[in-house]
Amino acid sequence: MSLQQIAVIGAGTMGNGIAHVFAQSGFKVNLVDVNAGQLEKALQTIGKNLDRQVSKGTLTEGQKSIALANITTHTDMAVGVQNAQLVVEAATENTDLKLKIFRQLDEAAPAGCILATNTSSISITKIAAVTKRADKVIGMHFMNPVPVMKLVEIINGYATDKSVTDTIVALSTQLGKVPCVVNDYPGFIANRILMPMINEAIYSLYEGVAGVESIDTVMKLGMAHPMGPLQLADFIGLDVCLSILHVLHDGFGNPKYAPCPLLTNMVTAGYLGAKSGEGFYKYTPGSKEAVVSRRFA
Ligand code: NAD
Repeated sequence: MSLQQIAVIGAGTMGNGIAHVFAQSGFKVNLVDVNAGQLEKALQTIGKNLDRQVSKGTLTEGQKSIALANITTHTDMAVGVQNAQLVVEAATENTDLKLKIFRQLDEAAPAGCILATNTSSISITKIAAVTKRADKVIGMHFMNPVPVMKLVEIINGYATDKSVTDTIVALSTQLGKVPCVVNDYPGFIANRILMPMINEAIYSLYEGVAGVESIDTVMKLGMAHPMGPLQLADFIGLDVCLSILHVLHDGFGNPKYAPCPLLTNMVTAGYLGAKSGEGFYKYTPGSKEAVVSRRFA
C-alpha cells in the first residue's frame, strides 16, 4: 500500500516531531490540534529544528522549504483526516481522551485508512476495540526527540492485520527509522524495561543506598547510558513515569511494578521534573544546566 497523505493528531512534543519526519520524507501532512496556539508553536519548533539540520549540513535550504510546504494545520479533526491514508494520533496520554478520538477518527477517516497511535502505555487492543476497524489499528511509538531517535516500536493489537504491520514497518524504514515489532502487553517493550529500572533507581535513593549523582553516574559510566535514570525520569516527566508504572502494576498484577512511594510523593507535590522546574534536579529556564535538587543534596 503506497501512502502519501498523513494526518497527525496532536501538535505537542511528539506530534510536531512526527509531522517533521513525515514532511521531510516527502509526505503531505495535515497536523491537527484542538489548540490553534499549539499548532503555531509546533510550526515554529519544526522550522527551528529544520534550520538546525541546515546549519549542520544534513539538509539543504530547498529541502527545508519543501518540508515546511508539506505541512498544513487544522483545528477541525474531521477536515484534517478526510483524505488521509494513515492517521498517527499523538494527543495527550489519557485513556478516555484517546478512546473518544478513535471513535471520531473511525467516523471521519476514509474506510481504508490505517489508524496508528503513538501512546506510550495505553493498550492498542483497547483503543482498537472502540472502532469498527480493529484490524487497521496499530501502535507506532516514536521516541523523543522524534527527528533524532532512530527507533519506532510498532505494536500489534490483538486484531491488527499482518498487512497493516508490514505497511507500517516499511513506512518506518522509509522515514529513516529502525522498526521493532512487539505485541500488545502492558508497557510494550520500551517502557516495560525502562520504567522498572527508573523505579529501582528511585527506590535506591529512597532507601539511602546512594545519592542522586552517584546513582546517575554509576549508570552513565558503568553501563554506558547517555543519561542517568533519575535525570531521564525528570525529562520524561515524573507524572508520566508514575502513570506508566500504574499501567504495569494494574496490567500484570505483580507487586514488583509498585511505584516507589517517593515518586508518588513528588508527583503529588507537583515536582514533575524538567517541565515543572524541579524533580531530582533543579532546572533554570533557558539553561541546559541541572543541579541536584536541594531536597536530595
Ligand atoms: P503533549 O502534551 O506535548 O501534546 C499533546 C497535544 O495533544 C497537545 O498539543 C494538546 O492540545 C493535543 N490534544 C489534546 N486533545 C486533543 C484532541 N482531542 N485533538 C487534537 N489534539 C488534542 O504530549 P506529548 O508528550 O507530545 O505526548 C503525546 C503522545 O505521545 C502521548 O500518547 C504520549 O504518551 C506519547 N509519547 C510521549 C513521549 C514523550 O517523551 N513526550 C514519548 C513517546 C510517546
